[in-house]
Amino acid sequence: MNSLDGRLYRPSSGGITAVLARRNQGVYMKNIVEQLRHDALDRDCPYFARDSMLKAADKIENNGKGLIVLTDSHNDLIVAMQSAFIEWQHGGGAEAAMQWIINTLDGPGLTPGDDEPYGKEAQAWWDVNNSHPMPKCSVCGRPSNRCGGGVAACSEEHWQQAKKI
Ligand SMILES: [Zn+2]
Repeated sequence: MNSLDGRLYRPSSGGITAVLARRNQGVYMKNIVEQLRHDALDRDCPYFARDSMLKAADKIENNGKGLIVLTDSHNDLIVAMQSAFIEWQHGGGAEAAMQWIINTLDGPGLTPGDDEPYGKEAQAWWDVNNSHPMPKCSVCGRPSNRCGGGVAACSEEHWQQAKKI
């Protein structure tokens, strides 16, 4: 715990988890690659294994770099949301906080358009575009956000109806 302006300050776990994951990933990958290259170049290494070990080290290093790019991106998205939260709670309020979100989306051209499917419905947008969407609503076929017992639903009303189907 650190003291900030006399208050106890507890760092949030989300950003720290992402940063630690990135560091651990980098250290783990580097250790494996260094060990493989060391063993491959060791005089006791069988000549027929040397080339494949060096190729494996290159492959692990390249794949690891890709993973680090992904974890960096994940980390920066979390930090942007945390900055938005801080702006809302301790800075310029909700409108100013939204600027953090807008800046994050605008740069890579990811601001949802009004004319895109579900571009005006936050819940449905999430339901259809998240990494693991649920089956469509058993009642109306729209994106759903609850499922179980062989049915899925887009709302509490349709959830109650779907359970009777
Ligand atoms: Zn529905």
